[in-house]
Amino acid sequence: MSLRFLGLMFFITSRVSAQQNDSIVVHHFFHEEFTAGKSYDWLHYLCSRIGARLSGSPQAAVAVEWSATIMKESGFDTVWLQPVMVPHWVRGDREISWMLEGKQKIPLRICALGNSVGTGPKGVSAQVVEVKSLAELRTLGKERLQGKIVFFNRPFEQAVLTGGEAYGGAVDQRGHGPAEAARFGAVGVVVRSMTHQVDEFPHTGATNYNDSFPKIPACAISTFDADRLSAALKKDAALRFYFRQTCQMLPDVQSYNVIGEIRGTEKPHEIILIGGHLDSWDLATGAHDDGAGCVESMEAARLFKATGIAPKRTIRVVLFMNEENGLKGALKYAAIARERNEHHVAAIETDAGGFMPRSIGASVETHAAAKVQSWQSLLAPYGIQTITNEGGGADIGPLKKQGVALFGFHPDSQRYFDYHHTAIDTFDKVNKRELQFGVVSLAGLLWLISEYGL
Ligand SMILES: [Zn+2]
Repeated sequence: MSLRFLGLMFFITSRVSAQQNDSIVVHHFFHEEFTAGKSYDWLHYLCSRIGARLSGSPQAAVAVEWSATIMKESGFDTVWLQPVMVPHWVRGDREISWMLEGKQKIPLRICALGNSVGTGPKGVSAQVVEVKSLAELRTLGKERLQGKIVFFNRPFEQAVLTGGEAYGGAVDQRGHGPAEAARFGAVGVVVRSMTHQVDEFPHTGATNYNDSFPKIPACAISTFDADRLSAALKKDAALRFYFRQTCQMLPDVQSYNVIGEIRGTEKPHEIILIGGHLDSWDLATGAHDDGAGCVESMEAARLFKATGIAPKRTIRVVLFMNEENGLKGALKYAAIARERNEHHVAAIETDAGGFMPRSIGASVETHAAAKVQSWQSLLAPYGIQTITNEGGGADIGPLKKQGVALFGFHPDSQRYFDYHHTAIDTFDKVNKRELQFGVVSLAGLLWLISEYGL
């Protein structure tokens, strides 16, 4: 036997045993999670005892204290709060809306968009101009839009594979529609809710004003009522729409990103970040968005402590504040990471619901791509069918400029937009075992990055 052959044999055997060892490690995580896991109970507490937790709210402050305590009690090596100033938007009274069909007021289900101004106590009433896109809006111009309420009514595309793609194809109406409509003198905006479903739940979500134009009130309308309004407009183009909302933006409030670490045994200065966002919309209790991501992140790290498996590199859980209506927590985190010259090997975001894992998106350097691909088979038993080469997320996005490899966790997306930003994003919509499979997949990914680097 030649030396070269012996060397090759050794290489193959050590590869195989490394793979075996990795699969044993992930199986330990699996066993711990499915026999003594905490993720589901934590989510229950967060949703039912703390509740909705929009930035600046008292519940957001309670959630900060609670999650820091959880990480301390779980044996994390270091836990701290990172101060950040956040916007404080409040919804005010329950919104009211109707359209006038003949002399009849037909009530419609709406909710104010996050960051929107109110209508004033009397509400706003005007004729409605329906458009399908920002481009169409621009072709109408001031002449047709001055003094009107603009109704953005482009539905989710049905023939796309993932919920995220459909959302991405429609959300410009909510994010930028009100600012663009104000440019042409509109007095209000109503946006079709961001969902595949035709149902009765308005979906809130942030809108972004442009400081060069007036801030006009903006709301979301349920898809069922959007179809109804659209049909009524076809019969009577001069139909009047009324809405009243008393939401307002209050002065910024001090809040925190919540951070907890398990120190690496060999390369403690190499950080693997995993996180989601602790804030949630105010209409429900943010079970899928993003209570699930928060408990998955904390639990994936806790599994290392619970099983006595030590990571070589440092695992850092970050629960970001203010993803929903400002991203201030993410921006602050990235700024401080740069200031301290921290070395993040990778950042993993889980903010797509507590559903069954499907894939991981990995934006890594070309030289690491094959290594990351080779991990898929280890995670397959827990739901990961593919590892794609596009990873990221809103909260970890700002780290991209610092050259950090970004990973997005993608659970099944087909039901996410049934609940997203609505009054029904509640604990009962999360399946315990699906959530647990998410935890195990993420813990496995943490293990592999901590063991092999990128
Ligand atoms: Zn989210």
